[in-house]
Amino acid sequence: MAADRETQLLREKLCAAFCSFYKPGKNEDLTCLGYRAVAWFAAAGREIRFTAEQHRGRDSSGLLSGRLCPHCPFSANDCDYAAGVEGAPPCGGFILLNRALGNGRLSVDDIGKYELYLRMQGQVHDVAKAAREKGGEHVLGSADLHTHACYLIYGIMKPGEKERQVRPGSGHEEIFCLVSGRVVVRRDGLCIPLEAGQAFHLRGDESCMIENQDAAEAVYIISGGHGGTAVHH
Ligand code: SF4
Repeated sequence: MAADRETQLLREKLCAAFCSFYKPGKNEDLTCLGYRAVAWFAAAGREIRFTAEQHRGRDSSGLLSGRLCPHCPFSANDCDYAAGVEGAPPCGGFILLNRALGNGRLSVDDIGKYELYLRMQGQVHDVAKAAREKGGEHVLGSADLHTHACYLIYGIMKPGEKERQVRPGSGHEEIFCLVSGRVVVRRDGLCIPLEAGQAFHLRGDESCMIENQDAAEAVYIISGGHGGTAVHH
């Protein structure tokens, strides 16, 4: 495939030629951030020179080690340069980026843009996968988001599955929205059907039970937050 060929080419032009960490055949699926950044800029059409050119301008090692290395999977345990070992060289990607900065083909703003791209990647959460792994429901909340202002619950109910409770709890409010399938909402001896695209709102200790009486899977999301007048927990 073309993507595999490009990866192989980059390994030869970048890793094999410039990186002292590179060991052919060893854990090649895991790439360092220097490699990923070079691949990102090259894919965006930016000129990265895979040749032994002179570094003419300012050294930007401090900028790169401060803004890129902290996001690198190798920085914690596997990179002597990031660990500050004296004389340890950075990876090949780092060297080429530093040259591109020094020779004016990349700017500080370009590095900032790539850093923003990394942050955006880190803000994406695979809630559907997590819900399946946890048996049907995943809460995207303070553990991942580092805020208590809001949260989201992604839920999947198998055909015939019952007794899924929705209850915001004291100080919270939630909106339940059925994304796909059909369910029944039970509350205080009453029962109403809910179809995909329909939503309802609960406050505090109000609660209901959801049942999927259908032959197909049902998927829902619950958006939650703190109520305006109640005590926070
Ligand atoms: S110098 Fe080390 S930590 Fe920094 S990007 Fe390269 S491999 Fe990762």
